[in-house]
Amino acid sequence: MPEGHTIHRAANDHRRLLKGRVLRITSPQGRFSDGAARLSGSRCDDVEAFGKHLVYRFDTGDVLHIHLGLFGRIRKRKLPEPDPVGAVRVRLVGDTHLVDINGPAICEVLDPAQFARLKDRIGPDVLRADADRERAFTRILKSRTGIGRLLMNQSVLSGIGNIYRTEILWRQNIHPDRAGKDLSRADLERIWTDAAALLVLGVKHNAIITVDDAPAGKGRYRERVNIFNKDRCPACAGPVTRLEIDNRRAFVCAVCQPAPRP
Ligand SMILES: [Zn+2]
Repeated sequence: MPEGHTIHRAANDHRRLLKGRVLRITSPQGRFSDGAARLSGSRCDDVEAFGKHLVYRFDTGDVLHIHLGLFGRIRKRKLPEPDPVGAVRVRLVGDTHLVDINGPAICEVLDPAQFARLKDRIGPDVLRADADRERAFTRILKSRTGIGRLLMNQSVLSGIGNIYRTEILWRQNIHPDRAGKDLSRADLERIWTDAAALLVLGVKHNAIITVDDAPAGKGRYRERVNIFNKDRCPACAGPVTRLEIDNRRAFVCAVCQPAPRP
């Protein structure tokens, strides 16, 4: 499952290649033929990411909404137009490059009203400058749910994936089981600021880097996180405990992240 930074990276890349261009849009696989016909020949006005949702906005007001889900993938290819690889749901052809999307969980055309409703459903995205963080804080500060679960609820706040969740809570010394309502506004400000900084780094390097002294070159994945999938806490050398939160792995240091009192 791609984390939010990979979708923002794709949006930045595709904006550079497609914005301002009149696109030819097809569905080589055939499952999106009607949508492709509706969009083809319109000018792409912007490409944006909202959490894990990727949207292509057109001058007609229509929006192509993509969510890759577990199995979707994106390929960027140079023109002249090569043959599709696998079942390409939608192909967006610009002047110099094309974008192929295979196997998305969602691939649909939205009109402006439907797009507005989609944005309302998605929680504020830590990577967006226009995000309304107060909307997320208000929900979290009222909730009895653990912060670990809330951070992954994309309707509360978006952009933070599974590895970042573990790493951010460790960096802020907050146990994932602490209820949202037991955190302070300052805790949430620190989580938000840290998440935004780490995700910007993730977009830049196309890798999850949560250690402060990451080597500039190509380090191995395990060398760039603090406790995710590790045995020992780098801060206190104590054991790292593995948890399951909604069937996703999470890790915690019982010393650095004190558990809430029962
Ligand atoms: Zn520790």
